[in-house]
Amino acid sequence: MTLRFVDEDGLARTFWLQRGSTARVARRQFDRWFPDGTGELQLYLSARCRQRCEFCEYGMTRDALKGRTRDAASAMARAVVPDLFSTGAVDALLGRCAETSVRFTTTGYDWLEHPRRDALLAALERAPTVPKFLQGPSTGLTDPALRARVCALPGLQKVRTTLQSSDPHEHDAMVGREGAGRALLEVLTRIEPRLLEVSVVLTRRAVRSLSQTLQWAREHHLKLKLQGFRPDPGLPHPEPLWPDPADVRAALEAPHARDAIATLIALPGDAVPPALAHLAQPGFDAAAAAAAAAAAAASASAACDSPR
Ligand code: SF4
Repeated sequence: MTLRFVDEDGLARTFWLQRGSTARVARRQFDRWFPDGTGELQLYLSARCRQRCEFCEYGMTRDALKGRTRDAASAMARAVVPDLFSTGAVDALLGRCAETSVRFTTTGYDWLEHPRRDALLAALERAPTVPKFLQGPSTGLTDPALRARVCALPGLQKVRTTLQSSDPHEHDAMVGREGAGRALLEVLTRIEPRLLEVSVVLTRRAVRSLSQTLQWAREHHLKLKLQGFRPDPGLPHPEPLWPDPADVRAALEAPHARDAIATLIALPGDAVPPALAHLAQPGFDAAAAAAAAAAAAASASAACDSPR
């Protein structure tokens, strides 16, 4: 298991809890990570997810040698790291969150699949004043009893998840798991909108149904976070995933779009209509986009040059 600290600038630092960790060590680490008592603590549980999202390095490489090595490292860590729940480490961290202004997020990769999920939920219930975020594919929340328990968590701020398309088959194709789209759409219609934070990663395929996804969101009183595609450094062959900015812009110019968007993150300027400029946040990687365009052009040229 790892603990990841995200500071106010969004920089993430990950720490392995070492063998012999206790509640005392967790408290000491907490005070080192959050000297001014603000920020967000991410508890990263390394629970294997059942998806294979096209934009995710982990999903696309975990069956390759590199990914298997990482999985083996996680398994070894699980074997040698004492249980964070029975040692009281998680309670200690939540206790320090309650005494400070640090938010608590549970993530990685699908926390609902973690064997100690119920122990985690019990720990969260014992810390009613701590602001909590739960991040993952969230399809496990089709279980009514589990969903009711999660939604009743005191201090719950948001269930964070990713919807690639309101067309369930399109969503399935992009996350690499049949049935995921139907399950997620059910979950999103059964949880109060104020408890949801839903993102769309704007890959080329997601943009194809973006207008329809925004329409669906509007009908369900949701505002989506639209995230520009920013490939992980180890994602194999990201070039075909880059969308055409003109296609993004066309979807965003639809009359229903404005009411269905919370923020536009890391989009190229020419993809954002002027009427939505106030929703845009920076972060677009112009160099990576240019490299992808060059690679696509080279590949098209090679195809034209190849003998028939
Ligand atoms: S669910 Fe999360 S961890 Fe799993 S493949 Fe998708 S983005 Fe990656």
